[in-house]
Amino acid sequence: MSDCLFCKIIAGDIPSKQVYEDDHLVVFHDIAPKAPTHVLVVPRKHIATLNDADNSDHDLFGHIALTIPKIAKQLGLTDGYRTVLNTDKGGGQEVFHIHFHILGGGPMPFA
Ligand code: 5GP
Ligand code: ZN
Repeated sequence: MSDCLFCKIIAGDIPSKQVYEDDHLVVFHDIAPKAPTHVLVVPRKHIATLNDADNSDHDLFGHIALTIPKIAKQLGLTDGYRTVLNTDKGGGQEVFHIHFHILGGGPMPFA
């Protein structure tokens, strides 16, 4: 999507502090961190919200779930972490390209 912020970051048109990438995901630091470590796990595929995912995304979501612990380990979140997925305006979603937040590295709760 040409007008999507995260599609532009994935394409490299907008800079980000990237910490991980593979064929399906890009992970970068949140620009306004709500925890000492706060990264966003973003599928390369543009899916606006969780409500827009379908059965063709089954493997993608399995991949995300299995990759988040690897990213957390890479980031040194040995005590644990919080994973957040905001869905649509009522769920506090601001960027309409689906993404999981990983927050950790300090005392809970995170905003
Ligand atoms: P949401 O509220 O949609 O779940 O989360 C969007 C997140 O994207 C927010 O935590 C916000 O700080 C972050 N964000 C917004 N614009 C940018 C940006 O240009 N670069 C990065 N790295 N993060 C951004
Ligand atoms: Zn997008």
